[in-house]
Amino acid sequence: MIESNIMWKRILPELKKQVDSQTFNTWFEKTEEFSFVNNTLTIKAPTKFFADWLEQHYKSIVEEIAYNITAQNIDIDFIGSSNNTKKTTMKSIIDSTKESGLNSRYTFERFVVGNNNNFAYSAAQAVADKPGKIYNPLFIYGGVGLGKTHIMQAIGNYIINNDKKNRNILFSASQDFINEMISAIQTNTIINFRKRFRNFDVLMIDDIHFFAGKEGSQEEFFHTFNTLYNAKKQIILTSDRPPKEIQDLQERLISRFEWGLLTDIKKPNFETRVAILRQKCIEEDVTMNNEVIDYIANTFDDNVRQLEGSLIKILAYTSYKKIKPHQIKIDEVKEMLADLIANQKKPITLDIIQEEVAKYFEIGKNQIKEPTRKKEIAFPRQIAMYLSTKLIPHTSLLEIANHYNKKDHTTIIHAKKIISNKIADDPNLKSKINEIIQNING
Ligand code: ADP
Ligand code: MG
Repeated sequence: MIESNIMWKRILPELKKQVDSQTFNTWFEKTEEFSFVNNTLTIKAPTKFFADWLEQHYKSIVEEIAYNITAQNIDIDFIGSSNNTKKTTMKSIIDSTKESGLNSRYTFERFVVGNNNNFAYSAAQAVADKPGKIYNPLFIYGGVGLGKTHIMQAIGNYIINNDKKNRNILFSASQDFINEMISAIQTNTIINFRKRFRNFDVLMIDDIHFFAGKEGSQEEFFHTFNTLYNAKKQIILTSDRPPKEIQDLQERLISRFEWGLLTDIKKPNFETRVAILRQKCIEEDVTMNNEVIDYIANTFDDNVRQLEGSLIKILAYTSYKKIKPHQIKIDEVKEMLADLIANQKKPITLDIIQEEVAKYFEIGKNQIKEPTRKKEIAFPRQIAMYLSTKLIPHTSLLEIANHYNKKDHTTIIHAKKIISNKIADDPNLKSKINEIIQNING
């Protein structure tokens, strides 16, 4: 049944990955969720002293995790309590975060397959079934909150639960790989670091685009990759864009990432969004009116995290009001999600950038796309291309190129270089561009 701890039980496993176990046991083991209303999550600690300490040292990290889970800004309040009421330790949930770094919630069963992700899903299943044999590496890319981490971890969880060979598995955020490497260099233990990373049967590195521009990490990962690949160990990577479009990534890594299978995850369509919400209701063991489900699915079409965030908010509200989730009225839902909807920043699109740049240079919106080299047109167009790469980084260079009727992405790279150089030389242009950015942001 849905009860208290709805948010906290999601946050704790993530927190456990970010603090050492001693700290975790000391400070978090005996905490529990007190309430979650109006985007404020109140956590009860055993004493006032505990609460103050947590407030001072862990508030921001917890808020960041809450944001990552719900795509909303959530205030965290720690309160102390002297009466030890309910003693729900969340040990079982925490224990599931094994050595492998995996979160046991991320399974294939819990992953809803739709037309946006079915290819990635089949590829992931094939890899889980025969690690190191079919697609190596498996490279999954797509925008934020679309299920990349989930599907990658599902592979790991499947192998742990089904494979008899007791394989050595690691899931690592790329920032962790980078940080571990840096600290190994500082402490003269790089040999151990290498041994450790080159000894896995299945190595998963999440959000590899963070390697952009990090020469040392790329160098190190290049060798890790080769060792594992040659030993026919499975490598799985995710990124917010395809390898070719990760900036400042060494050619040799790009080519290796393309050796295996590249597959993307797109935004889910309405039907898939509904299916995901239904699935989440089943997981929480609640029922919800179709009207409410449809409303959420219609309102949030950008990523799955927003859907989950809205659902959690509603469940927390109904639990606070002591009503069953299916009793909630659509008007209450609308009111409750209103701030969320208002907060949803209007996404910047290629079209908006095109429009604002054209307006600024006092040319027609479509004129900017005309295939001419005339400076009055070509220069604003280059600025629009440059701004598209800056302001909507999840858009691929090819998409930008297509938007401006160009055949390939090199035009965009060229525009970006030219404008970056000009900005560096010309403060006047820099302030003009800042002005355009302000217009774009409304
Ligand atoms: P990404 O890594 O692409 O940013 P995540 O894998 O973290 O996204 O997904 C965000 C949230 O949405 C997770 O809680 C995940 O379980 C959920 N989610 C994403 N896609 C699906 C799906 N197809 N079915 C069920 N849940 C999903
Ligand atoms: Mg992710």
